[in-house]
Amino acid sequence: MAKPTIHIFALGGTIAMVPDQHGGARPALSATDIIAAAPGIDDLANIHAHDFRSVASANLSFEDLIDLAKEVNALLSDGADGVVVTQGTDVLEESAFALDLMVDGGAAIFTGAMRHSGLEGSDGPANLANAVRLAATIERPVAGALVVMNGEIHAPSQVRKVHTSSFGAFASAENGPLGRIDGTGVEWARSIPQTPNISPGSISGIARIAYYAAVMDDRSAILQTIADGDFDGLVVAAFGGGHVAEETADLLAAMTGNMPIVLASRTGAGRILENVYAYKGAEIDLISRGLIPARNLDARKSRVFLTLALGAGWSLAEIRTVFSKF
Ligand code: ASP
Repeated sequence: MAKPTIHIFALGGTIAMVPDQHGGARPALSATDIIAAAPGIDDLANIHAHDFRSVASANLSFEDLIDLAKEVNALLSDGADGVVVTQGTDVLEESAFALDLMVDGGAAIFTGAMRHSGLEGSDGPANLANAVRLAATIERPVAGALVVMNGEIHAPSQVRKVHTSSFGAFASAENGPLGRIDGTGVEWARSIPQTPNISPGSISGIARIAYYAAVMDDRSAILQTIADGDFDGLVVAAFGGGHVAEETADLLAAMTGNMPIVLASRTGAGRILENVYAYKGAEIDLISRGLIPARNLDARKSRVFLTLALGAGWSLAEIRTVFSKF
């Protein structure tokens, strides 16, 4: 049987880093170098290497991700069997979700490394091999992205980086991984969640979405700066099930006339409540004053969705409907 064709896009990150003369790691490896460090993946697929970016992931932009999605979609519609993206783990939960929204007609498998190649037990080669293995063998219909780290497969809409340095830094707190993968095969635990599709070609600009995280006794100074700023929307990482202080609630309510405001939680798991607490600043109050509940989508991923949807010209009604299904 012919080997599948898999394209590997390297964006930088620890998986592409080597120590400099002082021992600190910086991006340096090309896609070909990263592939060469994972012997045996040529047996799994015909590999095509793409040097897309070479950055620490904090420097990735929405423009980068839209360009990447366009290239991935073009390859998948041209008959490629799968795509693997290697990048830094710091923003991987956001970039993989962006591609999950924009990729159509196949799967983009995201992976990275928690230990660079100069450290003992570097996990990049094993993560890359598992990502290629999944891209080459996946039988489930996927239109979007998946994350493979530490032998686990995660849904981009659910996974978060939850540890600064552990091999097991990625977790889907609500339901656990979608499955596990190693040299012996894939074991699925549950089905892949469906996410909406936003065609990258339909995105005509990058909406500026502010991100405000509620903290105790902050007296709304930062939120006021956002209200006075030039933003197209706001995502609130609220306390608990969707709660803020009374003063914050009044300011948010005043801001809803100027921009869509999404109500998400800072907790990291669980659905935004909609009908439990009625006090001023609680979810019933905030939703009745125009905030859009993010349901199960966390605040950072809500910002990714709102940025792309507004950039693609989606109406507020469409955006509300999609949030009601997350
Ligand atoms: N700072 C790195 C980055 O995100 C961390 C990593 O790749 O794990 O680029």
